[in-house]
Amino acid sequence: MLNTDVIIVGAGLAGLYASLRLTQRNIPHIVLEAKNEAGGRIKALKADEESSESYDLGPTWVFPHQQKLQQLTQELNLELFNQYIQGDALFQRAGSHAPERFSGAGAMELFRIKNGTYSMIEALVQRLPDGQLKLNHAVHSIEREEGSWSLKVNNDGEQKDFKTKHLLLALPPRMVVQHLTPQNWASKTLLKQLNASQTWMSAQAKFIATYDKPFWREQGLSGQTFSQIGPMIEMHDASITETNNHALFGFIGLPVHQRNRYSLTQLKDSCLEQLAYFYGDVVHQYQQCEVMDWAKDPWVASERDINEPSKHPTFHTASFEQELNSLNLYLAGSEFATSDPGYLEGAVDAVDLSLQRLFPFIGQ
Ligand SMILES: Cc1cc2nc3c(=O)[nH]c(=O)nc-3n(C[C@H](O)[C@H](O)[C@H](O)COP(=O)(O)OP(=O)(O)OC[C@H]3O[C@@H](n4cnc5c(N)ncnc54)[C@H](O)[C@@H]3O)c2cc1C
Repeated sequence: MLNTDVIIVGAGLAGLYASLRLTQRNIPHIVLEAKNEAGGRIKALKADEESSESYDLGPTWVFPHQQKLQQLTQELNLELFNQYIQGDALFQRAGSHAPERFSGAGAMELFRIKNGTYSMIEALVQRLPDGQLKLNHAVHSIEREEGSWSLKVNNDGEQKDFKTKHLLLALPPRMVVQHLTPQNWASKTLLKQLNASQTWMSAQAKFIATYDKPFWREQGLSGQTFSQIGPMIEMHDASITETNNHALFGFIGLPVHQRNRYSLTQLKDSCLEQLAYFYGDVVHQYQQCEVMDWAKDPWVASERDINEPSKHPTFHTASFEQELNSLNLYLAGSEFATSDPGYLEGAVDAVDLSLQRLFPFIGQ
C-alpha cells in the first residue's frame, strides 16, 4: 500500500497542471492516470515518429479572454499564433453542385499553440520528477476510511491499493460517477449534480488530413468551410505553425448513433470525398489522415454524454464547499471551473480554485 499526502486522479491538463503547482511547493504527491499516455482530451497526431510537433486531435483554440491559460503557456515557454483566416470561405449548400465562395472568412480572433496543443502536455510532463506520474493506473473505487482515502487501482490487470489524506479529482464529473463510486461517499445532492454535468465535447468526432503544401491558401482560401450536408459541418486550417506542417480539420456533424453505423475507414473516406468537393483531387495527396471519435473513449465520454444534445457544463462547486472540505476532496477537472468550464481555461481555473482550498489544510 502506497501512502502519500496528496493523490491526483487524471493526467489531463488539469491533473498535470495541479502536479506542477504541488511540485513547485515540494508537496509530496502522485498522479494516477488510467491510460498509457497523459493528456486526456488533449491528444496528438505526431507530425512524424521522432517529432515533438503534432496536430490536434482534441482541442485547438485558445480564446483571447483566457488569461490563465495564456499565462500558463508563457510559463511553459510555448508560443501562440493566430488561427489562419486569410482568404475566402466556402459553403456547401443542400442541393448545390458546387461550393459557394464568400469573401473573407468569418471573423475569428483565436490563438493556437505553436507545434500543437499537445506540446503543453509534453512541457508539463517534462517538469514532473521521475516516478510521480503513474500511467496505466485506472482508479476503480475510492473509499473514505478514518479520515483518509483508500483507492483501488487496476494497473495492467494487477490490483494495487493507495492511501492518501487529500484527494484531487482532475477528471470530468461524469467520469467521477462512472469510475469512482460516489454513491459510497457523496451526498445525494452532490451525486445528482455530478450526474447532471455533461463532459464538454465528449461526443465529438474530428477529422484531420495533413499536407506538405497548403493548397487552399494558394487558391486564396482560408481553409474555413461550412456545410449543410456533411459528414463535416465546419472545417478549418489546422496547420501547426504559421508557415509549415499544414493541415485541414473538420468537426463531424453526424450524431453518435448515426456515425456508429460506419467504420472509421468509411468515415475517413467520406470526409475526404467532402474535402474533394471543396478543393478537388489534390486532397487525396495527404500525408496523414485520421478520424478521432471521442465518444468511443471510455475515459472521456459516458453513455449519457453520448445520447444527449451538446450543452455547456455548469457545476456549482462553491455550493458543495462544506461537504468537500469535510471529505478533503478537491474537484479539479475543467467542468468544475467557475470560469470557462469545459474549456482548457476551465481546467486551469478549477485547479487554482482547488489548490486555494487545499493549501491552508497542508500548512502552505
Ligand atoms: C474534440 C475536442 C475539441 C475541443 N476543443 C477545444 C478548444 O478548441 N478549446 C478549448 O479550450 N477546449 C476544447 N476542448 C475541451 C478541452 O479539451 C478540455 O477542456 C480539457 O482538455 C479538459 O482537461 P481536464 O484535464 O479537465 O480533463 P480530461 O482531459 O478529460 O482529463 C481527465 C483525465 O482523467 C483520466 N481518467 C478518467 N477516469 C480515470 C480513472 N478512473 N482513473 C485514472 N484516470 C482517469 C482520463 O484518462 C484523462 O486523462 C475540446 C475537447 C474535445 C474533445
